[in-house]
Amino acid sequence: MNNQLDALMDRAVEFINEYDNIFICSHVQPDGDNIGSTLALYMAIKKKKENVKVVKTDEIPSDYLFLPNIQVFKEYSLDEQVDLFISLDSSDVERLGPGKELLKKAKKIINIDHHVTNNGFGDINIVLPSTSATGEIVYKFIKHMNAEIDKDIATCLYTAISTDTGRFMYSNTTYETHLIASELLKTGIDINNINIHLYQNRSMERTKLFLEAINNMDFHLDGKIGIAVVTQDMLSRNNAKLEDSEGIVSFIRDTSTIEVACLLKEISEKEIKVSLRSKQHVDVSKIALNFGGGGHIRAAGCTIYDTIDNAKKVVLDEILKCFR
Ligand code: AMP
Ligand code: MN
Ligand code: MN
Repeated sequence: MNNQLDALMDRAVEFINEYDNIFICSHVQPDGDNIGSTLALYMAIKKKKENVKVVKTDEIPSDYLFLPNIQVFKEYSLDEQVDLFISLDSSDVERLGPGKELLKKAKKIINIDHHVTNNGFGDINIVLPSTSATGEIVYKFIKHMNAEIDKDIATCLYTAISTDTGRFMYSNTTYETHLIASELLKTGIDINNINIHLYQNRSMERTKLFLEAINNMDFHLDGKIGIAVVTQDMLSRNNAKLEDSEGIVSFIRDTSTIEVACLLKEISEKEIKVSLRSKQHVDVSKIALNFGGGGHIRAAGCTIYDTIDNAKKVVLDEILKCFR
C-alpha cells in the first residue's frame, strides 16, 4: 500500500512540476478540513511555482478568517486557462459547485480526499478513507514534495485535522493522527490562539439559534434517533447565518441514548441540507448516498430538494430502516 501511495504521490508531484496554471478548488459549504488543507497545499506549491490559485466556491465561515493567506480564496471566471486542477476533500464533482466548470477545462485533475464515498473522478486519485482528515493526506503530500512545513502551513493543517476529528475525539482519530499533530506542534504553532478562534469564539446569535434548535428537536425510537431543524425563520429570528448551525448535530449525538443524530437546514424553501452523525453502529454514509450525498461512516450529508417537513419524513424513514 505504501509503495502504491508513494507512486501516486510521485505522479502528482510530477504534474505539479510539469503544469503551469494550477487551481486548487474548495468545496461548497467549506469546513475547516477543506479550507485548512487548501491553504496549506497552496503555500507549499507557492514555494515552487508562481501560478497557483485558490478557487472560492462558497462563503468562508467567519471561524476560519484568521487563517494565514485566507485572502487567496477568490472566484474565477471560465476565461481562465486551467492546466492542473486539484480537488481537496470533495467526494464528487458536484461538491465543487461552480468549481466544476473549471475542472472540466483542466488538462489534468488531482483528487485528494478521505471520503469512503469518493468516486475517483481524478486522473490521479489519492483517496485514503482511513485517514481522519484530508489535512493528514496533504501533510504527507507536502512532505513528499520536499517542501518545508512552516508555521503557517502547520497552522492550517492543524485546523484541518482538529476540526475534522472533533478536536481529536471522533473514531476516525488514529495513532498517526496524533503523530502528525505532534509534528505540527513542533513547528511552534500557537494552538491556544488557534483553539480560541475555532472553539471559543461563538457569537450570541449562534448560541440563541442553537438553543432554539435544541428546544424544538424531536426524538424517536426511545431516544436512539434525534432530529433538529434550522429554518430560514429561525435564522432571521435569531439574526443568525447558516454557518451558525455548526455544532448542533454533534451536540445531539452527545446525548446518551442517541445512535443517530440528524440536522435539517433550510437553505431555501425546497432545498434542505441534511447532516447525519452516528455513534457506534449505523453507517450514515449509506443513508446520505441514498439521497445523492456522501461522507463517512459516522458523519455524512446530502441535499434534499423538497420542503423541510417532507425532507424530515423521508430522512427519518431511511434512518428507521437502519434499526430494523
Ligand atoms: P456535514 O454534515 O455537512 O458536516 O458533512 C458531514 C460529512 O459528509 C462531511 O465529511 C462532508 O464532506 C460529507 N458531505 C456532506 N454533504 C455531502 C454531499 N452533499 N455530498 C457528499 N458528501 C457530503
Ligand atoms: Mn469537508
Ligand atoms: Mn474532511
